[in-house]
Amino acid sequence: MTRSAVLGYPRIGAKREVKKATEAYWAGKISADELQKVAKEQRAERWQTLKAQGVDVIPSGDFTLYDHVLDANYTFNIIPSRFAKANVSDLDRYFAMGRGRQVGDVDLEAQEMQKWFDSNYHYIKSEVSSSTEFKLNNLKPVDEFLEAKAAGIVTRPVLVGPITLLLLGKVGRDEPNASSFEPLSLLDKLVPVYSELLKKLEEAGATEVQIDEPSLVMDVTANLGQQYQSTYEAFARAAPGLKVTLATYFGRLDKNVEFVAKLPIDSLHVDLDRAPEQLDSVVAAVKPTSLKLSLGLVSGRNIWKNDFAASLAIANKAIEQLGKDRVVVATSSSLLHTPVTLANETRLKPEERDWFSFATEKAAEVATLAKALSGEDVSAALEANKKSIQARRDFEKNSDDAVRERLGKVSQDMYNRKSPFPARIAAQDKVYNLPTFPTTTIGSFPQTKEIRLARSKHTKGELSTEEYERFLENEIKHAVEFQEQIDLDLLVHGEPERNDMSQYFGEQLKGFVFTENGWVQSYGSRYVRPPIVVSDVSRPHPMTVRWSSYAQSLTKRPMKGMLTGPVTILNWSFPRADVPKEVQCKQLALALRDEVVDLEKAGIFAVQVDEPAIREGLPLRQVDWDAYLTWAVDSFKLATAGVEDRTQIHSHFCASPPLCYSDFNLIFEHIKRLDADVISIEASKSDLKLLQAFHRYGPRVPSVEEMKERLKAFKAALPNQKHLFVNPDCGLKTRGWTEVKAALENLVAVAKWARQEY
Ligand code: GLN
Ligand code: ZN
Repeated sequence: MTRSAVLGYPRIGAKREVKKATEAYWAGKISADELQKVAKEQRAERWQTLKAQGVDVIPSGDFTLYDHVLDANYTFNIIPSRFAKANVSDLDRYFAMGRGRQVGDVDLEAQEMQKWFDSNYHYIKSEVSSSTEFKLNNLKPVDEFLEAKAAGIVTRPVLVGPITLLLLGKVGRDEPNASSFEPLSLLDKLVPVYSELLKKLEEAGATEVQIDEPSLVMDVTANLGQQYQSTYEAFARAAPGLKVTLATYFGRLDKNVEFVAKLPIDSLHVDLDRAPEQLDSVVAAVKPTSLKLSLGLVSGRNIWKNDFAASLAIANKAIEQLGKDRVVVATSSSLLHTPVTLANETRLKPEERDWFSFATEKAAEVATLAKALSGEDVSAALEANKKSIQARRDFEKNSDDAVRERLGKVSQDMYNRKSPFPARIAAQDKVYNLPTFPTTTIGSFPQTKEIRLARSKHTKGELSTEEYERFLENEIKHAVEFQEQIDLDLLVHGEPERNDMSQYFGEQLKGFVFTENGWVQSYGSRYVRPPIVVSDVSRPHPMTVRWSSYAQSLTKRPMKGMLTGPVTILNWSFPRADVPKEVQCKQLALALRDEVVDLEKAGIFAVQVDEPAIREGLPLRQVDWDAYLTWAVDSFKLATAGVEDRTQIHSHFCASPPLCYSDFNLIFEHIKRLDADVISIEASKSDLKLLQAFHRYGPRVPSVEEMKERLKAFKAALPNQKHLFVNPDCGLKTRGWTEVKAALENLVAVAKWARQEY
């Protein structure tokens, strides 16, 4: 018999119960007990839902109030001393590690957050040092296993693997030999604690465990075969009755499959959604062993309905070699990257709805596939699926010919500006002779309660479009006056009209659809509702021109238009599965190109195109970087190269690892190829080793002295740079006006100082 398995499930709750309760707890509106009660109900609901879909292997322990990596840190006592020492409850300590804690004279800075592989989920990095004392600080995995068991469901507990946990971690501030310390050197100390936990799970009645080692699909310089062997041998010794599924996802194992297939485990899970090409090599590697193979066929990363015929063909290939009992059908990864259920979507057209599967529907898909492979009669489900897949194909065929034709006709010179940089900057200096060290911001100003309220009233129809637009104009007016008063040089309109930097554009472009409840976790209690690209993309009308030109009409100072780049819009959406990302991205680029040109026509001097996701979208394996960066950078160029020399193109990236570390050199050539007039990368928040002089700071106002030091370091690193803009980080929309005002006043003071100094 072929079994079905789900690797993990969303944590938010079908009606956002968990998010609401967590935030209510933070706001002091409910007690810890009330929060735990909601969490417990939600865990039960998840298990019952998966059972009702017919899933054989149901996960536990993957539920979390903040982040599953943070949970692992907490369980294994990977708690930096600043939190360990804090005189707060366990729950508050846990939240403080994730989001910081500023109460009274306690000022705990949050731990660093990083993207979970190439997804849009962010995890909390473990901070380890030679003084980290691993021990079982709690028994969350065991407790939740028992909780499910009491509800009549024997689950497969999920753990982040020890090697992945350390590889994704960082050296803690407590470490005296920070420069030479390797987190992975602690593996020998960590493994016994994992072993102890596995033993406890076995004693509690667990028969299986899922250990996630997704770092097996990344490039890791060291050969980790030996470490894997000794780690998993230790686990087998500690809990001989516990069947281990080693889960990999988001990419291909490549050569690692050779040693992985020899590990003393029960099953290996591979992602055949993202890396279908690895099927043959993986099957060949496990065939001579007794390993079971878990086929990740139902995507944990997209929202498209699974094509049963295609999945069954793949599964049958594996079954031919391994037999039915050695094959498991599973989700490709945890379903945490997908919304909970389609059931709460009322506004999608029936024909659109029929294209999609969210987490709950995906669970039903794995169950159906496994039943089909085991010989059960699921012909009605297979037939219905065939119809849906065909309907989607028919729709794709009739997509937008004009868009495809336009893309087909794009010529090489459309990717390049009219003149090289020196001629452009000279032309730009003529239009606006900005002072040296010109000051500007990255675009957004605080999204106040009033703005959110007006937007939501407008959405509900309680505020007419006319009233809403007048409200936005008033916000813009306020932002412009504010910037003049602070004495900034290059102004922005402040982005009050944007609900989100990607969604706002998706909503105005043709080719997207939106959900009402399609929330996907970004980090902690932060969820986004990604737009879904369903067909060819085009721009029916200008999107931002009226706001930027209104702002320009209020001031004599130059205005910077603000757009989200094609790569970022695509990366923060659910892309189509039937067309390569490159094509979708270039269609977006053409739509944005028209917008950039329209901004120029409206008299806007500079246009900033934000591409924080260029680095986020970097493939996990370096051999794939060039191909990706080629079309990503080309898309940016296609979007921006339509303007005259006198129009200044700014680009913005949020720099975080790996961009700012050694591999920066690897992509540096591509960044240069962007050929923007001004590039801004964040240099205050991340540990930017590129220019050794920066430190991380929380939501507080950096002092003039601090900023002077940073600027001096920049000047020293880039002595011949004539045009050095001075600006704050992006995301002022998440700050308050008081804080923004103080920070920008300091910033302008520093620029004025620099004009004297240099
Ligand atoms: N223009 C956006 C802002 O200032 C950019 C956000 C980003 O790059 N993440 O908030
Ligand atoms: Zn940014």
